[in-house]
Amino acid sequence: MERDIKKLISEMTLEEKVSLCSGKDFWYTRDIERLGIPAIMMADGPHGLRKQEGASDHMGLNKSIPATCFPSAAGLACSWDKEIAKKVGIALGEEAQAEGVSILLGPGVNIKRSPLCGRNFEYFSEDPFLSSKMATSFIKGVQSQGVGTSLKHFAVNNQEHRRMSIDAIVDERTLREIYLASFEEPVKQGKPWTVMAAYNKVNGDFCSENNRLLTEILRDEWGFEDFVVSDWGAVVDRDRGVEAGMDVEMPNSGGIGDKKLLEAVKSGKLDERIIDRALERVLKVVFRAIENKKVNSVYSKEIHHDIAREVARESMVLLKNEDNILPLKRIESIAVIGAFAKKPRYQGGGSSHINPTKIDNIYEELEKLAGSNAKLTYSEGYDLVSDEIDKELINDAKEAAKNAKVAVIFVGLPDRYESEGFDRKHLRIPDNHIKLIEAVAEVQSNIVVVLSNGAPIEMPWLGKVKAVLEGYLGGQALGGAIADLLFGVVSPSGKLAETFPKKLCHNPSYLNFPGDDEKVEYKEGVFVGYRHYDTRDIEPLFPFGYGLSYSSFEYSDIKLDKKSITDEQTVTVTVKVKNTGDIEAKEIVQLYVKDVESSISRPEKELKGFEKVSLKPGEEKTVVFTLDKRAFAYYNVNLKDWHVETGSFEILVGKSSRHIVLRETLEVQSTVNLKKVLTKHSTFGDLMEHPIGAQVMQAMTPASSVDASASLDGLGTDPQEMMKGTVLRAAVAMSNGSFTEEMLQGILQAVNGSN
Ligand code: BGC
Repeated sequence: MERDIKKLISEMTLEEKVSLCSGKDFWYTRDIERLGIPAIMMADGPHGLRKQEGASDHMGLNKSIPATCFPSAAGLACSWDKEIAKKVGIALGEEAQAEGVSILLGPGVNIKRSPLCGRNFEYFSEDPFLSSKMATSFIKGVQSQGVGTSLKHFAVNNQEHRRMSIDAIVDERTLREIYLASFEEPVKQGKPWTVMAAYNKVNGDFCSENNRLLTEILRDEWGFEDFVVSDWGAVVDRDRGVEAGMDVEMPNSGGIGDKKLLEAVKSGKLDERIIDRALERVLKVVFRAIENKKVNSVYSKEIHHDIAREVARESMVLLKNEDNILPLKRIESIAVIGAFAKKPRYQGGGSSHINPTKIDNIYEELEKLAGSNAKLTYSEGYDLVSDEIDKELINDAKEAAKNAKVAVIFVGLPDRYESEGFDRKHLRIPDNHIKLIEAVAEVQSNIVVVLSNGAPIEMPWLGKVKAVLEGYLGGQALGGAIADLLFGVVSPSGKLAETFPKKLCHNPSYLNFPGDDEKVEYKEGVFVGYRHYDTRDIEPLFPFGYGLSYSSFEYSDIKLDKKSITDEQTVTVTVKVKNTGDIEAKEIVQLYVKDVESSISRPEKELKGFEKVSLKPGEEKTVVFTLDKRAFAYYNVNLKDWHVETGSFEILVGKSSRHIVLRETLEVQSTVNLKKVLTKHSTFGDLMEHPIGAQVMQAMTPASSVDASASLDGLGTDPQEMMKGTVLRAAVAMSNGSFTEEMLQGILQAVNGSN
C-alpha cells in the first residue's frame, strides 16, 4: 500500500515528530496510534536472533527467546562461500519473521585491525573485499525474507577499549581502501534497511554526529536512502546527530533526546525540515517492514540446526594434518580430552549472545559417528572456569591418551578470554590448556587439536601435535560438524579469513593498539593483515587464505581475455582447477592483484576475487573472474576518487596469500590525466618525470644545468642523482646567476600550462 509519508508528517505535532526520532523502549521504534503509525522491533544479530521479551540489555545479560545459533562471522567468513552467507541470512530472516522482529541488528563488517579486538568473532575479516562480499550476501539473504538488516558499526570501530569515546585517527586513503571499503559494497549492493552509527569518533567527530560519514559518504556518495540508527547509547549531542544524518536514537533515552530536539527546533538552532527528513527515512522503513510482515510465520528448528551444522562444516579450517592423521579411519580407540568436548564454546559474549534451540555435545556427536568402529573415552583435562593447572585432571587425560590410538584434544579460548566490551591482552590460550597438550604429548604422538576461539591464538605446542582443526565459534551444531570433519564425512574446505601471526608483535597495529587515552592512531595505514605480512615478508604462523583439505588440487591454464585494457574496461580471467585426490572436496580459488610499479606505496598484493568450487575426484572446472577498475585502483586523495596508474599489473591466482601458483601480466591504461602541478618546491626529479619538464630540462642551456649540478660536485656522490633531489628554488641560489628566478618561473609556466 502506497502511503503518503509527507502528508503524514505534515499532520504531526512537533512533539510527535521529535518522539519518532528515538525508540519507544529498548528494542521498538515509536508508534503514534492517532496517525496509524505502528512500532517495529529490532533485535540482535548477527549470527542468531536475540529477541528479549523480559528485561532488556545490550550486553546479552538477560535471557532471550530460543533461536538458532549459527557460527559467528569470524567462522562464516572462512567458508568464503557467498551462498552459505546468504543461506544463513535467509534462515535468520525466517526466524525474525516467526518472532515478529522487523530488523536484525547485523551484520558487523568492521575490519580486524588487531587480533586482540574483543569483538573480532563478530566480524568477518582483515580484508575488506572478502568482508564486503560475505556481508552483501548475508544482507540479501535476510532481506529476501522481508526483514531488514542494520549494517554495523559504521565506522572504524575496531577495538573495544574505550569504544564509546576513542577517536580513531585514520588517513583518508586508508579509510577508503580498508575501513570504509568493507561497508561500501554492502551499502550499494546489499541495500540494508538501516545502518548503525558506531560509538567511537573518527578523526575528531563521533560517528553518531559525523556529517562526513553519515551524509557525505553514506548517502551522497553511496546512495543510501534509509535510516541510520545509533548504536545503543552512542548518542552524544542529539541535535548535532540529526543534522548530521543520524535519524533514530536507540534505545529510548527517557525523553532526554526528545527534549533536546524540541528545544533545538524551538530556538531556531535546528531546522524543522531536518527532523522531517529523518522521519521520512524512518517511516519508509517502518511501513516497508509492516508490508513485509508474514503473519503466522514458523520455521523448523531441526532444519535450522542442520543448516547451522552445514555452515559450521564449511567454515572450519584444517590448519595442520601431518601424516594424514585425519580423517580418523579404522581407529579402534580415541581418547577425547578437554572440557570443551562436553561443554563446548560455540558463541561469543555480549549483545550477540544467543539462547540456542539446542547445543550439540561434541563428545556425543563423535560417539554417534564413530559407531561401533571405535571406542571413545572422555577426560576433562582442565577446569573450564579457571586457568589453574589441575594435576589430577591432567594425569587422567594422560592415562586415557596412553591407552588409545589417537588423542583428540579440545582447547581454545574460554568465554572470559574474549567478548564484546573488552579486548584481549595477548594471544595465549589458558595455561591449563597448553599444559594439557604438552602433557598428553609426552605419552601419545597421535594428537589432533580442535580449537574453539573467536580470533587467532599463538600455538607454541604446534610441533607436538599432528593435526589442528580451527573450529572458531562454530554455533550450536558445531559438534556434528566437527564429527563430520574428523571422520571424513566431508573434507574440510574453510580457509582463514585472517592472518594468524607467529607473535603478537608482528601484527601491524602492535605499536598503536589500543591507543593512548582518548585516541588511537592507525599509523600502519593500508598495511592491515596480509597487506602488511606479505609486503614486509614476515612469515606468519598461518597466512590469510590458508586451509588444508583431505584432497589435493591442481591449478592450470590461467588466461586473460585481453592483454591490455583501459581503466574503463574489464578483463576476464579464467583458470582451471582439478581435484587430483580421490575424494569429493571443495577448493577456494583466490585471485590477488599486484601493481608492479607504483608511484605510491601499495601492498604487495590485494585480494580481488575468490570462488569456492566443489569437485569430484578427477573433476576439473574452469573458474571465471571479472576484474574492473577497482581491482587495480588506489584511492587518490587529491582526486578524491579511485585512480589507476598506467602500467603493468600482475594477476596472481593461488591457494592462499602466500601460495601463489599461477600468474599473468596485464597492462592497464588510465583514462584520467593526473595533473601534477609543479612549484618552486618541486625537485629536478619531478621536473624530469614530467613529459614537458623533461623537454624543458634538455632545452635548458647546458651551462646553467652544468653549473647547477657543479656546485654539488666533489661530494663523493653522483651529482645527477643529487640534482634530482634538489628543489628548483635552490638552483636559483646555487647556480651563480646562470639559473635565474625568471627562468624558474618560465619553466613552471611551461610545465603547468601544459596540464
Ligand atoms: C552493540 C551492538 C548491538 C546493540 C544492541 C551494542 O552494545 O554494540 O552491536 O546491536 O548493543 O544490543
